Amino acid sequence: NKNLTNDQIKAVVQEAYNVVKSDTGGKNADYIPYLANVSSSLFGLSVCLPDGEVIEVGDTGYVFGIESVSKVPTAILVMKQYGADVILQKIGADATGLPFNSIMAILLENDHPSSPLVNAGAISACSMVKPVGDSAGKWKAITDFLGQLCGSPLVLIDELYKSESDTNFNNRSIAWLLKNYNRIYDDPDMALDIYTRQCSLGITPKQLSICGGTIANRGVNPVTKTQVFDKALAPKITSMIATVGFYQHTGDWMYTSGVPAKTGVGGGVLGVVPGVMGIAAFSPPLDDAGNSVKAQKAILYIANKLGLNIFD
Ligand code: GLU
Repeated sequence: NKNLTNDQIKAVVQEAYNVVKSDTGGKNADYIPYLANVSSSLFGLSVCLPDGEVIEVGDTGYVFGIESVSKVPTAILVMKQYGADVILQKIGADATGLPFNSIMAILLENDHPSSPLVNAGAISACSMVKPVGDSAGKWKAITDFLGQLCGSPLVLIDELYKSESDTNFNNRSIAWLLKNYNRIYDDPDMALDIYTRQCSLGITPKQLSICGGTIANRGVNPVTKTQVFDKALAPKITSMIATVGFYQHTGDWMYTSGVPAKTGVGGGVLGVVPGVMGIAAFSPPLDDAGNSVKAQKAILYIANKLGLNIFD
């Protein structure tokens, strides 16, 4: 506990919003039309505290593509279904220092997809989700679990799913290369489709902050008060977020901010400060590694002002 009052936190979130709002750095992801066409000026900040208070500033009700942040809930679900050790045995929990979609993540680590929070490991994780062999059952398991983490259901953005499916050639090769190395534990095309669909889920900054709050609060959703996953899994997922959350810029981000955070090319960032808060920031323009420029600046501002560096 950092002895911060909710009002102090609220004031700093508002300040961060005001300071960062007019930043014009970065550009929307353009590898699919849906993401390129989202308004670049959208900006929302939301913080979920362990007592269930949710602070919201800006476009916190806007539904955007969750993209790579979806790797976090699915990794927790796999740990919940199989136990935390399975991650080390079947996927890995290692840094890659590579872009999110790197095929090298498989080859460098001795045929091991490195981490469930990069594409290769995430496709592997999707193949593991139970019930194996049942696409509809897997999808229900993933979306039900996400709904519990966020305290309300998420809805697929059909147009995004279509865009992603029409252009996911690189991910298709990752899925089949994984199959070659016995790192796919279900049908490869099905695992890839589940992965593509989970990336295309819509989420609001408010929902994302509650998801972060649930992780920060050791598996208990602060808003619904439901124990969503075992508390022993919270440090495991947070360590993986800290290790690869910002793709090839993860070390730089951790060095700068000290806040474990996972980004997605939809412009969302999910930050976890264990025991203290979940932070979500959303703004579409990205830096060269695929990380939202304004979201990074806002989280960094909040972290510096409130002393949230977990290494300090
Ligand atoms: N659907 C995207 C992909 O796999 C996710 C990218 C991301 O957010 O890192 O290409």
